Amino acid sequence: MVGLTSSPQDRAQDRAGALLSIDLAALTENWRILKARCTARDTGAVVKADGYGTGAVQAAIALKGAGCTTFYVAHLDEGIAVRGAVGAGPRVVVMHGPNRGTEGDFAAHKLVPVLNTPAQIAGWRKFAEASDILSESLVHVDTGMNRLGLTRKEFDAHIADGGFNGLHPLALMSHLACSEMNHPLNQAQRAAFAEMLSIFKSQFPDAKASFTNSSGIFLGPAYHYDYARPGVALYGVNPTPDAPNPMLPVVRLFAKIIQVRRVDRAATVGYGATAAVPEGAKLATVSIGYADGIPRAWGAGGYGFVDGIRCPVKGRVSMDLVIFDVSSVPDSGLHQGALMEIIGSNASVDDVATASGTIGYEILTSLGARYHRHYLPAPAAKKP
Ligand SMILES: *Cc1c(COP(=O)(O)O)cnc(C)c1O
Repeated sequence: MVGLTSSPQDRAQDRAGALLSIDLAALTENWRILKARCTARDTGAVVKADGYGTGAVQAAIALKGAGCTTFYVAHLDEGIAVRGAVGAGPRVVVMHGPNRGTEGDFAAHKLVPVLNTPAQIAGWRKFAEASDILSESLVHVDTGMNRLGLTRKEFDAHIADGGFNGLHPLALMSHLACSEMNHPLNQAQRAAFAEMLSIFKSQFPDAKASFTNSSGIFLGPAYHYDYARPGVALYGVNPTPDAPNPMLPVVRLFAKIIQVRRVDRAATVGYGATAAVPEGAKLATVSIGYADGIPRAWGAGGYGFVDGIRCPVKGRVSMDLVIFDVSSVPDSGLHQGALMEIIGSNASVDDVATASGTIGYEILTSLGARYHRHYLPAPAAKKP
């Protein structure tokens, strides 16, 4: 249990109910693995949603130390926080683009907006004209996901009417809907993107292209383009769900046992009395719950590990507690404060997600605020 041993100075670890360890060395190694696989000129890092729950500031500082120079977030305030963490040098891209009237905040913090809609493009052009700035941006086109970005019709209209005039686009961007699958939409999106890119380049010969997320990197070089935007794989989630995980685990989560009991007759466990246990079953009540981001649905098929021994969840996940059947764990391993592994060498983020009927993204971004967080440092940054 690297990094989770008690240290006298760390009373916070004693006070906490559960311990979250985040391995920044694994994070930076994952970035290197993706960068080595990716033919893009620039493999960046998506650190939105507080670095997928791991801490955007810590993640961005570690990745900058490893050589990452482009960071992507969703919201303006996330961009301001990341800018504060990484300093003036790296490019920080805000994927949701400017809310109305916030263009000045982008300029003040040197944030690069993704322009997703005709209104955002018009707002940014107006701002750029009035303030005489030459700020770069990314223009987002929809190629089949129908989430954000100009439709083909809107794109064509902007090309025809000079609607992109005055912009300084760094890149044309789009986003894949099915990159973790072998799905015909991947090829269709790529073809639609390639067509719009060649039209865009006739107006902006220097414009680059940004197309792939984590999983798209594994679809092959045709999907990489110039600016790659991997997120979830950096944090250890498998970007190729049908094949072994090429990434290193970043997150480990352990929760403390508060109480152990042996039931003296057949009984039920937890809210709603949904789980039955036989006489003699040994139960451990553990300090973690749905308020910490453990899905309630995990109760149905989840399990933890004590010293590597598998312990099924019994009954419903409560707000702050989960009950496990620890009948197969020797009493010596079940003292107060003994650790139940929730995520670690025996259960990955993806395993917890599967047992909860969700995806690793949701497990990570729900990681709770009550955990004691311990960061295992990345290797020291090389001097430039
Ligand atoms: C979240 C996001 C990414 C990163 O995707 P992953 O699947 O986590 O690698 C890239 N681009 C856009 C537009 C996103 O919203």
